[in-house]
Amino acid sequence: RQARFAELRDRPSVTRDGVAIDLMLNAGLLVDLPHIGETAAAGIGLFRTELQFMVASTFPRISEQLALYRAVLDAAGDRPVTFRTLDIGGDKVLPYMRTVEEENPALGWRAIRLGLDRPGLLRSQIRALLRAAAGRELRVMFPMVADVHEFDAARTILERELTHLRKHGHALPEKVHVGAMVEVPSLLFQLDEMLTRADFLSVGSNDLVQFLFAADRSNVRVADRFDPLSPAALRAFRMVAEAGLRHGKPVTLCGELASRPLEAIALAAVGFRALSLSPASVGPVKSVILDLDVGAARALLLPLLEDTSGAAEIRAALRAFAEDAG
Ligand code: PEP
Ligand code: MG
Repeated sequence: RQARFAELRDRPSVTRDGVAIDLMLNAGLLVDLPHIGETAAAGIGLFRTELQFMVASTFPRISEQLALYRAVLDAAGDRPVTFRTLDIGGDKVLPYMRTVEEENPALGWRAIRLGLDRPGLLRSQIRALLRAAAGRELRVMFPMVADVHEFDAARTILERELTHLRKHGHALPEKVHVGAMVEVPSLLFQLDEMLTRADFLSVGSNDLVQFLFAADRSNVRVADRFDPLSPAALRAFRMVAEAGLRHGKPVTLCGELASRPLEAIALAAVGFRALSLSPASVGPVKSVILDLDVGAARALLLPLLEDTSGAAEIRAALRAFAEDAG
């Protein structure tokens, strides 16, 4: 099996009916970088910047952040890297940061909420990102955005940092793409407003599914209770993919969902053309993409979303479809 995946490494990720589905990597530390070359991924679709903070014993200095971001961009070369700003709080605690006990940490003071309330931290991170990307393209996205005004506020912080660096004569990125993660269901009802503001969106399916079904992703009793291949979740994913198409802006998905072959087929079928996944899953997912007739998968899946099919029927139908193709 491994040998078969290795042989696929240099084949372009294009379906049988000629649709390119870009496969990108989820990463977060220097040790992840060799995977870019090993998998021949199209880039890094999610760089989790909080990991550097989580393995440190004190807040990483700007110079340390800058050095990591520069090393990531160097390793990626011409391939795009999407940096996610700090997603701390909730289950991601920094031992050296004082926080308050929360009854519902996943719903609490985390990610962009913390970033906007303590803008010093977000500002210095953004400064490090802008400087690391001098002379190249930079892609930044904000986690856990629940309202377009949070995106506006975060983007304003970024614009101010750009102005500041320009005024002080620093070299700037060639271009800055600013996006948001779709992780909070309220954003599903603000997609047009988001896409007139943001340059791209990326679905964080781990959190989006957790919040859609109100099922704690880290509680084993409920985490797998609701299937992301159910019509409710698939309709949500489809809404995001179609909104991206409507606005002509890139929309990707970077949760663990894309790492599973049947789920990847479903995501391509509802309209995603870029997925970001764990390095070990690139081979298996590419293998199903190469065998996939995405037009046929779409024709199979969309009617199942309209009738009373449940996740079990959808899963069975997709499995039969994949076995026929492969
Ligand atoms: C997600 O929620 O799907 C996501 C990619 O972010 P994280 O898993 O880091 O919360
Ligand atoms: Mg998340």
